[in-house]
Amino acid sequence: MTLLIVTTTGLCNLKCSYCGGSFPPHLVPPKEQYELKDLIALVKSLDADVAFYGGEPLINPKLIENVMDALGPRRRFIIQTNGTLFDNLQEDYWLRFDAILLSIDGRREVNDHYRGKGNYDTVLKTAKRLRELGYGGDLIARMTVWDRSDIFEEVTHLLKLGLFDHVHWQLNVIWTEPWDFRKWADNSYLPGIRRLVSLWVERMRQGEVTGIVPFLGIAKVALFGEWRSPPCGAGSETFTLLPDGRIVACPIAVDSEWAVVGDVRSGILRKVIIGEPCTSCSYFKYCGGRCLYTYMERHWGEKGFRDVCSVTKATIDEVLSRVGEIRSLIEEGVVKREEIYYPPYDNTTEIIP
Ligand code: SF4
Ligand code: SF4
Repeated sequence: MTLLIVTTTGLCNLKCSYCGGSFPPHLVPPKEQYELKDLIALVKSLDADVAFYGGEPLINPKLIENVMDALGPRRRFIIQTNGTLFDNLQEDYWLRFDAILLSIDGRREVNDHYRGKGNYDTVLKTAKRLRELGYGGDLIARMTVWDRSDIFEEVTHLLKLGLFDHVHWQLNVIWTEPWDFRKWADNSYLPGIRRLVSLWVERMRQGEVTGIVPFLGIAKVALFGEWRSPPCGAGSETFTLLPDGRIVACPIAVDSEWAVVGDVRSGILRKVIIGEPCTSCSYFKYCGGRCLYTYMERHWGEKGFRDVCSVTKATIDEVLSRVGEIRSLIEEGVVKREEIYYPPYDNTTEIIP
């Protein structure tokens, strides 16, 4: 199944420290420059699900409403939003999303350090309003993880709030300025991952499948054999329509020639795939090359790429070391297969952090 990510605008109302805010308008315009009918024809020709993305997608809510109205209720809709512009979209549209990803990085002090003072409370208010409305889809906390993040503390904090069905994260690596990733990974992140995997399996023994997306995604490959490269689908099954009508392989690759695969009128003319060194890597089956953008751009050079690989491998190893036990828990009926089978469709979670 294809997923079309529709970047509704290049504008963002925040200026988070790892991102810097809006895209330059010459790269990602503030509003769509194509006609709605061309977008709708593209989605229909691809038989695609649709995910709304930005900038902050709710700065251009009219496009979201028009697309949802034109495509009707039988298609899947997803949104990745910073969660600060709840009132920009009417309530009945919120309720129609199959998955809503709210950007939040964990505990208040960590989140607000990266995303701005008061942001934590605003995002949680949105999550609470969605629950009060009766939102029954998949509400996902979408974290960016950096040097102040304690992965165990941030993830368990978000889960304890009881608002989110799932927690997912991406490491702030390679697309950002270099930082002492290796030291942080050895001293903080990987020990936290080990604790988190232990907690995840411990809860499974008690019959509860905790919604930690990267672990579920890796276990899904091991248990069900379903796999793709890259795990986010960028360039092979997931494509992004930019407001200027270009279709690119990955939503952040807005100024890279390699990423342009077509346009709104011509459709998708080619795919972009990951090759060596990933295809010969013994972890490729699980990692899938991790991220097409960082694979292509290598902003941290070869050593930086390998540093991230070693963290990816350690994370995969940790989950795989528990797969035998998880399989037994399924066979014994302690947990259900369908609870482990995640994501059940492409909901823009990238699986490998
Ligand atoms: S671990 Fe590194 S080399 Fe191996 S598949 Fe993943 S990104 Fe490629
Ligand atoms: S994981 Fe990488 S390739 Fe995939 S959507 Fe994110 S930035 Fe793009």
